[in-house]
Amino acid sequence: MENLLRTHFDFEKVTIKKLNGYSNANYMVIADEQRFIFKTYVFDEQMLEQVSAETEILLFLSETPNTLFPSPKAFAEGSFVKKLPVGGEHLICRMLSYLDGEFLGNVVPSESLFTSFGRFLAEMNVKLKAVKNATLKSRELAWDLNQFHLNKPYISAIEDPHDRNIVRYFFQAYDQRVVPVLPELRKCIIHNDANEWNILVKDDRVSGVIDFGDMVYSSLINEVAIAITYGCYDKDNPLEWSRAILKGYHEIVALEEKELDVLYYLIAARLCTSVCQSAHARKQDPSNEYASVSEKSAWKMLRKWLSIGPIQAVNCFYSAAGLSLPEVDSVDEIKERRHQSVSPILSISYSEAIYMKQAAFQYMYDGYGNAFLDSYNNIPHVGHCHPQVVEAGQRQIATLNTNTRYLYDQLAEYAEQLLSKFPSPLNKVFFVNSGSAASDLAMRLARTHTQKDQVMVMEHGYHGNTQTSIDISDYKFSNPKGQGQKEHVIKTPLPNAYNGKYRGEHAGSAYGKDAVDQIAHAEDTIAAFVSEPIVGCGGQVPLAAGYLKEVYPAIRKQGGVCISDEVQTGFGRLGDYFWGFEAHNVVPDIVILGKPIANGHPMGAVVCTEEVAASFGHGVEFFSSFGGNPVSCEIAKSVLHVIEEESLQQHAKSVGDFYISELRSLQKKFPCIGDVRGSGLFIGVEIVKPGSFETDQKIAHQLKNELRRNFILISTDGPDDSVLKMKPPLCFNKENVKEVIDKLESILEKQKS
Ligand code: PMP
Repeated sequence: MENLLRTHFDFEKVTIKKLNGYSNANYMVIADEQRFIFKTYVFDEQMLEQVSAETEILLFLSETPNTLFPSPKAFAEGSFVKKLPVGGEHLICRMLSYLDGEFLGNVVPSESLFTSFGRFLAEMNVKLKAVKNATLKSRELAWDLNQFHLNKPYISAIEDPHDRNIVRYFFQAYDQRVVPVLPELRKCIIHNDANEWNILVKDDRVSGVIDFGDMVYSSLINEVAIAITYGCYDKDNPLEWSRAILKGYHEIVALEEKELDVLYYLIAARLCTSVCQSAHARKQDPSNEYASVSEKSAWKMLRKWLSIGPIQAVNCFYSAAGLSLPEVDSVDEIKERRHQSVSPILSISYSEAIYMKQAAFQYMYDGYGNAFLDSYNNIPHVGHCHPQVVEAGQRQIATLNTNTRYLYDQLAEYAEQLLSKFPSPLNKVFFVNSGSAASDLAMRLARTHTQKDQVMVMEHGYHGNTQTSIDISDYKFSNPKGQGQKEHVIKTPLPNAYNGKYRGEHAGSAYGKDAVDQIAHAEDTIAAFVSEPIVGCGGQVPLAAGYLKEVYPAIRKQGGVCISDEVQTGFGRLGDYFWGFEAHNVVPDIVILGKPIANGHPMGAVVCTEEVAASFGHGVEFFSSFGGNPVSCEIAKSVLHVIEEESLQQHAKSVGDFYISELRSLQKKFPCIGDVRGSGLFIGVEIVKPGSFETDQKIAHQLKNELRRNFILISTDGPDDSVLKMKPPLCFNKENVKEVIDKLESILEKQKS
């Protein structure tokens, strides 16, 4: 190599040192007391064209004497790029001037450095705007954010399934938000890789940029997106750091609103490109460590990016550029508008209502840029806007949406998949569009099967909003404003082992014996006994262990059926079990399903035994216009798939156990926490007057509202509305638990003082 350089450049004295390169080999050359970078690439026609284009641009940039960009140095015979035989192969070779300075990656940055970073790039872009180059214009490059889709095939190389889905989420967001505006974005040749190892710093200012190998004709804003990505991806507060870069850039090149509107998604796209490329490179060559240098930071920022959300980011970008934010109506205005046409009987959570705009996984974003950690909403079971669920719905609604009077594959496919999750006696399913409709249908099935009318219901139980469901929901009919208990309804006490009539280890069988007594004294045969395994509206109260083991046989013995309402507890939420009834070691005759079944798409189902279905089958036709339609079935299939793929039941178990143990540690410090109960990610925290069982609704409400002010969503429930309810999307993680616990602890501390 030294000989080659001496020959081709007329150097007298040459020493060389090999440097790291992503896909090519670079050498530091010291020749005649000057430093250069010698770059070599394995020959192919396309690469030659690319390297020549890059050289042309660098020559253009070096026209004015400067030290900002590497300058090509000519070979002895005058050319700047040459094909040379080296070590038995043909390499494309060229020599560039060496730029002095410290890498941005090696310095502790300041705000002024980041502002100069932005300014530097904008000044470079102004120069580049004047250049045209056909090769760069037609370049196909996975690192070009305008060609983000080229990375899609590499998603599958990402090992962790949840991580894969985070990347899929940002791909969908890019398709939805960026693709439609791409034609409107300003374009020019951009450097396209202003990462911390390509940016040089001197005296707290950016002094130069190297490695123009990723240059491409692309959207101008991509230059900014890439700079922000690498400038900020290892920072705890990336958004704050992005401000300085943007400010500096905007001083030189005024950014347009439509560019800032997509910047959040472009930064995410760059991070996703990085993790896709790293995963792909690792799969190709597990020993290539260089390929994953930025991977850890990229994942850190992707997760952070989700917790920040697009609205907060856009607000920050606008303010950094000194632009005024788009007008958003106040919460009061939005509320007023709603109440002009929608009855206030539809309640709104919190004393300070939240105006929701977007959501992703375990985060929800309001219209003003606040991001909320969602520890409450169990309907988006696998995560808000989960990309696989979204994709399933979009694909099927664009293909076929019809009803069960035609044959299509999705109905049987989903029915089979769903039933495979149940013990074998439960082998028939009916589809409807809500938990309420499922409860209603469950009652029809029970009554048709038994030809009886009486129902035994659980104290504080809730099963839905239809007349039939309300009739079996003590939570509604016993409300002071409710309709009261109907004659055919028998209410049985909640087997609450914490502060009920029986407590401790044997509470379940004691409560069970009382219920059996009640059954024995019923005036007529009871058609059905219906209960949730953990009574949500009762305050997340698990039926005391052993209770259902007493009740189910007694109901059956007198000719009734047993119904488990799994609307809240099903689909792996409880961690140890896929269905709540399994925790009680019983098998119901009928199961009611809803909420999580389709991650928020309106769907419900009733699963029952062959015998129950057969009795119903002798009656009038059952038809639901929307129940079991192919779109719902595809969405529900995707939910089961994600639960499996992301091991969400096991995840609910480990995160839920952690959540409960952290809450129990808080309980030791704060006597207002009377009880911590539940299973997996279905948790209740009973707030009491210290040292007693007396509930404390006031404190419970304060905690809920204070958490809301701290951007954490939970709720309260129970007969006295004194139980904190936590039932987050199952992608909720231990970091999220720590955040809730820390905030809760500081609120409780403040309350003490
Ligand atoms: N059963 C239970 C246990 C529920 O919690 C609910 C809803 N909160 C329902 C049934 C009714 O479901 P939906 O609101 O989908 O009609």
